[in-house]
Amino acid sequence: MPPNVLLLGIQGSGKGTQAKRIASEYDSPHVATGDILRKAIDDGTPLGRQVEDILARGELVPDATMIDLIRERLTESEGFVLDGFPRTMAQAEALDDMLAEIGRPLDVVFVLQVPDDVARERLAKRAVEEGRADDTPDAIDTRIATYHRETEPIVEHYRARGSLVPIPGTGTVEEVFRQIQDALEQVAVRQ
Ligand code: ADP
Repeated sequence: MPPNVLLLGIQGSGKGTQAKRIASEYDSPHVATGDILRKAIDDGTPLGRQVEDILARGELVPDATMIDLIRERLTESEGFVLDGFPRTMAQAEALDDMLAEIGRPLDVVFVLQVPDDVARERLAKRAVEEGRADDTPDAIDTRIATYHRETEPIVEHYRARGSLVPIPGTGTVEEVFRQIQDALEQVAVRQ
């Protein structure tokens, strides 16, 4: 059975990269809300038109929109690697309720830990390489501040529940992934 994994971490922590690795190694679909929203924008869907300016400013899409989007995805998939949701306490509570309803609890919650200055450096580099609309200095500042204000309390929420596994995110992609693998193996043993 593919695992149900949640990845938390500040922008630039390497969350997306590791989420993709986990998804391909363990056959759990990668559910990345940022990718889903960017695709909606590229496709010019009603959702895309609704969120385009919000993303460009580095602000958060309303909780209700995100919760509906995730509900659809999670009921469709077997196992998941959630990347980019939840980002607020309201989203975390909605996720907990949703998973309890469908009887598929989280197996593990990872938080990738990197200092803000490392995160900023990586985002600045990505801005040059990928030219993402929200990698402008202003939008980066907004996203990092929003992470500390809105998303960090979620880390404590899962720590209190005992499902949190902190992983240092400053090593190489391989080093970080090995630590994730070790933790996932222990989860598999427990099941
Ligand atoms: P990053 O983590 O680098 O900011 P993402 O690709 O995860 O990038 O998300 C890009 C943008 O999509 C966010 O800045 C936000 O505007 C929007 N977004 C993604 N996930 C959520 C969410 N769960 N709640 C609200 N907005 C979201």
